[in-house]
Amino acid sequence: MESNSYDVTVIGAGPGGYVAAIRAAQEGKCVALIERDALGGVCLNWGCIPTKALLKSAEHYSFLAQAADWGFEIGEVSVDWQKVIARSRKAAKKLSGGIGFLMKKNGITVHKGAARYLSANRIEVTDAEGDAIELQTTHSIIATGARPDSIPGVKIDNERVITSREAMVLPERPESLAIIGAGAIGVEFAYFYAAFGCKVTLIEYLGAILPSSDEDVSAALDKSFRTRGIDIHTGARVLGVEVDGDSATTTFETEDGTASVKTDAVLVAVGVRGNTEGLGLEKIGIELDSGFVEVDGHCETAARGVYAIGDVNGPPALAHVASHEAAHVLRHITGENIEPIDYDLVPSCVYCHPQVAAMGLSESEARKREIEFDCGKFPFTASGKAVATGDTEGFVKILSRKDDGEIIGAHIIGTEATELIAELVLGKSAELAVQDIQLAIHAHPTLSEAVMEAAADATGEATHI
Ligand code: NAD
Repeated sequence: MESNSYDVTVIGAGPGGYVAAIRAAQEGKCVALIERDALGGVCLNWGCIPTKALLKSAEHYSFLAQAADWGFEIGEVSVDWQKVIARSRKAAKKLSGGIGFLMKKNGITVHKGAARYLSANRIEVTDAEGDAIELQTTHSIIATGARPDSIPGVKIDNERVITSREAMVLPERPESLAIIGAGAIGVEFAYFYAAFGCKVTLIEYLGAILPSSDEDVSAALDKSFRTRGIDIHTGARVLGVEVDGDSATTTFETEDGTASVKTDAVLVAVGVRGNTEGLGLEKIGIELDSGFVEVDGHCETAARGVYAIGDVNGPPALAHVASHEAAHVLRHITGENIEPIDYDLVPSCVYCHPQVAAMGLSESEARKREIEFDCGKFPFTASGKAVATGDTEGFVKILSRKDDGEIIGAHIIGTEATELIAELVLGKSAELAVQDIQLAIHAHPTLSEAVMEAAADATGEATHI
């Protein structure tokens, strides 16, 4: 058995793992990165990046359908489905290749294979041929991510009953699709397939689509999706899925009784479970909490010197959380005196159309915490830029403490919501008050003026509504 010694060993090369490896190398550490699959993890290969490419195709296609409104006569538009998929795969491949380059540039040793702890400081890596090497390490970071989960009565066969991974490379565009779960994955694929003319049925267990969103946002998205012809069933408990040849029937129960829908395919998007199996965690005293690695506020596990970042340590399962935790862990390893991560500052962005972006508390959460707050709201129908560019759907909503104006939550639905939220995240991180956003000069005409106007509305001084 060959032997190697490192200061930091990272397991998993997604946006948590590869960022941790780079940050460790930048700190002058001798770094190993272990990955059994493609560099870049789910985010680059099977998540954030390829889906954003697909969603852009859907947006362009929707635009072409309205081209006449913009003064273009272009006749009937046909879709080359294989090209839509190929473009998305190309974007994923390009970025995954870029990570390989970054590893070389930073002098990081990449070991291809599956990792297993022999002790907190010894990790065995077994490659596809079954050959093993042992690494010695001072610190290690588990960044193995998560994979799609399912529910009782629903067996994923990766053909008719699929996960997001198959949904982004279907060989043909389905005529009909049932989606179980209306979280981020469910609503993004609902928009994508509906935009391409597929009959989509969205089935959500809780009382609203995007149920973790602010209630006004969920309601606005629900309305928008129904206008696009998407069938939505909320408060719906799926009883099972039966596959019969080239179709599948999903049966679910609501307060109105039992119903079923027969579709070409069923996408299961009910959340994720941590990739913890085979790591030998039990050997080093690491406990799981609901299938995720238990960590403290600095992402350190019960085994000192062993950290877990990203999806594997539990929700929120977001690439930017993983990368942020990676940078945080390196600060912790290098002995910086830092506060635990503040998860109230995490933005969440959903890239359907209209886009949804949020940070901090929703109205109902603020009420639950008995916080007295002001709510400033500004609709894009009143924004000059939105009217000019035809993007008037949605609004900006900012919640701030009544006594001192501290921003406690921000919720945006509409075009470029996912870009606009950054100003409010920075504002909250810098502990600005809503008045600071209101008083900062925002360029005209921009969509960001809607953020300024929502802030002004919180203080009763909005000028365009
Ligand atoms: P999710 O947790 O966001 O949503 C799952 C949804 O399924 C929830 O609304 C839940 O109530 C519902 N559900 C659970 N059991 C159900 C049942 N039996 N019947 C009907 N509905 C049921 O998970 P996801 O959408 O699968 O996404 C997985 C992870 O990936 C999430 O953490 C998500 O945030 C992340 N992700 C993020 C983005 C983004 O940021 N744009 C995109 C995709 C995925």
